[in-house]
Amino acid sequence: MEKCEFYEACPFFNDTMANMPSLAEMMKDKYCRKDFKSCARYQVRITGKTTPPDLFPNQVARVKEILAGS
Ligand code: SF4
Repeated sequence: MEKCEFYEACPFFNDTMANMPSLAEMMKDKYCRKDFKSCARYQVRITGKTTPPDLFPNQVARVKEILAGS
């Protein structure tokens, strides 16, 4: 399966967000390397809007609110 197209520049994937390595690694497997379309960061990034620096892949509930903002 294809990896997320944004991984090279993604702060989450490059470990600048989480200080919980094992949890981050699980999320990278779940989202970045498999189901990236379900990732909250991906869903914001694909629209061209600025992705909040503190948005985690599993925080899809925040996406609607972020996309409704300016
Ligand atoms: S799936 Fe999400 S967290 Fe992973 S590299 Fe893509 S945008 Fe970043």
